[in-house]
Amino acid sequence: MAQLSDDCFAFGGPMMSVDEAVAIIAARVKPVGETEAVALVDADGRILAGDVAAPLPLPPFMNSAVDGYAVSATDLPASAERALPIAGRVQAGAPAQPALPGQAVRIFTGAPMPGGTDTVFMQEDVRIDDAGNVILPPGLKPGANVRPAGEDIARGHVALASGRRLRPQDIAVAAAFGLTTLDVVRRLRVGVFSTGDELAAPGSARTEAQLFDSNRFMLMAMLRRLGCEVGDLGILRDERAGLAAALKQVARSFDLILTTGGVSTGEEDHVKAGIEQAGSLVLWRMAIKPGRPVAMGIIDGTPLIGLPGNPVASFVTFVHVVRPTVLALSGAVPSPLLPMPVRAAFSYKKKSGRREYVRASLRRAADGALEATKFPREGAGLLSSLVETDGLVELGETVVQVEPGDAVGFLGYADLL
Ligand code: AMP
Ligand code: MG
Repeated sequence: MAQLSDDCFAFGGPMMSVDEAVAIIAARVKPVGETEAVALVDADGRILAGDVAAPLPLPPFMNSAVDGYAVSATDLPASAERALPIAGRVQAGAPAQPALPGQAVRIFTGAPMPGGTDTVFMQEDVRIDDAGNVILPPGLKPGANVRPAGEDIARGHVALASGRRLRPQDIAVAAAFGLTTLDVVRRLRVGVFSTGDELAAPGSARTEAQLFDSNRFMLMAMLRRLGCEVGDLGILRDERAGLAAALKQVARSFDLILTTGGVSTGEEDHVKAGIEQAGSLVLWRMAIKPGRPVAMGIIDGTPLIGLPGNPVASFVTFVHVVRPTVLALSGAVPSPLLPMPVRAAFSYKKKSGRREYVRASLRRAADGALEATKFPREGAGLLSSLVETDGLVELGETVVQVEPGDAVGFLGYADLL
C-alpha cells in the first residue's frame, strides 16, 4: 500500500487555490510503484510502467503507399511520356525481386519496394500500351508514393514514455512493435465510504427522513474510469468513534480512501474529527465553487480524502483533488485539464478570488460557433444538473462577470476522467 508521511499534505494558507492543491498533490504523493504485465487488449486506460522504445523501425521496410508501378528515379521522364516494360509484380506480404534500370514493376499498397526502385507511379496516372508497356507521364518527383523504413517511428525511439495513460492508439504502437504485453502500474485499490444518518443504501429500506445514497455509486464509477479497483465500504453513521474505528480498520487494505459527506464544520460533521482520531488531518479550504472544505488525511500511511456530501460539490472536488491524487499514486504524468474555448450564451456574476464551475450544455449557434448554455438552477445538491448537462464551464479566479458572447473555457464530462 502507499506509505505517505503525515505532513505530506500540509500547507500554509487558510484558503488554497485549485492550482496550489493540484501542485501539492503532484509534488508530494508517492507512486505505489508495483507493476504487472497485461495483455495488450487489457492495457487501455492503464498507466505505462516503463518506457517502450521501438525494437524495429516503423514501417519495418520501405514499401509502396499506393497501387501502381515502381521504377528507379533515374528513369523518371522529365518532359515527355516514357514507356517502360513491366518486369515483375509484387503484392503486399510477398518478397520483391530486384528490378533492372529501365524496368517497371507492378506493385500494390504495402508491398516491399523491389531493389533498384525508389519511386511509384499511381495506377490512375499511367496507361498500358498495346505492347504491354507502362506509359509514364512526366513530372513525378523522385521518391513519390513510397514509405521509407522508419518514416513513422525510427528504431530505438521512445514511442511510449513511462507514466502515459494508455489509449487505443498507444496499444496499436505496441502491437506494431510485435509486443504482446505491456508493463503497467497495478490498479490502485480505493475504498469508498459514504457518511450520514440520512442515507439508506439502495435496495435497503428507507425511512421517511432518509434518501438513498447516490454519491458512493457516482464516486465508485468515477474511480473505475480512472482505472481503480474499488472497494465498496458502505455507509458510516454520523458518530465519531465508530467512524474513526472504521477508517482505521480498513486503512491498511487500500492505497486511498474516499469518504463523502460530513466534512463541513457543523456539529454533525464527524469526518474531520474521525480522521484526527484515527490518524492525522489537514482540512483544505479550497477556493472553489461548488465545493466546500475538502479533508485530507493520512491514516497508517494511507491517504484519505473526505469529499463534501452535496452531489455536485462531491463531483467537482473529485475532479480537482481525487483525480490528480489517483494519477500521482499511479505514477502517471500529470495531465492538466484543458478547457476548450466556447461562447457563453448566458450571463453570470461571481466573486473574484475563487474558481467556479458552471454546469452547462453545448449547442451549435446559427453562425456555426459552439455555445454553452447554463443549467437554469444552481443548487449543489441537484443531480439533474449533472445529468442534463454536457460539462463544466470553468470561470477563473479573476473573473467576476460573464456576458453572452464572452469566450469561456468548457470541460466536457468525458474529458474529466
Ligand atoms: P454533508 O456534507 O454531510 O453536510 O451533506 C450535505 C448534503 O449532501 C446533505 O443534504 C446530505 O444529505 C447530502 N449527501 C451527503 N452524502 C450524500 C450521499 N452519499 N448521497 C447523496 N446525498 C448525500
Ligand atoms: Mg452529513
